[in-house]
Amino acid sequence: MIEETPAAGQPAADLSQAPPKGYRPAIPVQVKFTVAMRQEGRCSLCGEKLDAWKGTEWDHVPAIQLRAWDPEAGDTIPAANDPDYLTAAHEDCHERKTTGRQGDSKLSRRGGDIAEINKTRRLEKARLAREAEIKAFRERLLASGDEPIEVPVPDKKKKKREWPKRPFPKRQKTIN
Ligand SMILES: [Zn+2]
Repeated sequence: MIEETPAAGQPAADLSQAPPKGYRPAIPVQVKFTVAMRQEGRCSLCGEKLDAWKGTEWDHVPAIQLRAWDPEAGDTIPAANDPDYLTAAHEDCHERKTTGRQGDSKLSRRGGDIAEINKTRRLEKARLAREAEIKAFRERLLASGDEPIEVPVPDKKKKKREWPKRPFPKRQKTIN
């Protein structure tokens, strides 16, 4: 194993570092095709059919700038164009998702990216908070011992309104 000292232009193999600013390699057509096929040709946000390549936005999930950087591979982890970490959506659906507004042409694409990164961070924070809540709830349930371990059925309509109003990421299907 070779010990390397960090020098200018030669970063140490630190996987905690962010990707180089502006790193966003072009998505190969084959990758786009794989993503579109996985989604059965439908928008990942509204579920309606994607019309054509033009008008389709390719979204990195998580955003590239939030991924770890592998200096050896010269790519992010997971790789920037790994189809498993890409989604396809209508341009307008994507715009609405990232800016929270509809048809705001004043926001540049770059501004949209920044909004996307900030939103991803917020969602990640919210997700971690929810996971902690679920974990605490599960632990309380287990600790109670005599209680049956079942998914509680909300019997009062009042309870429903107590759920947080934060947006839930659609992709979150598994709870670990
Ligand atoms: Zn859509």
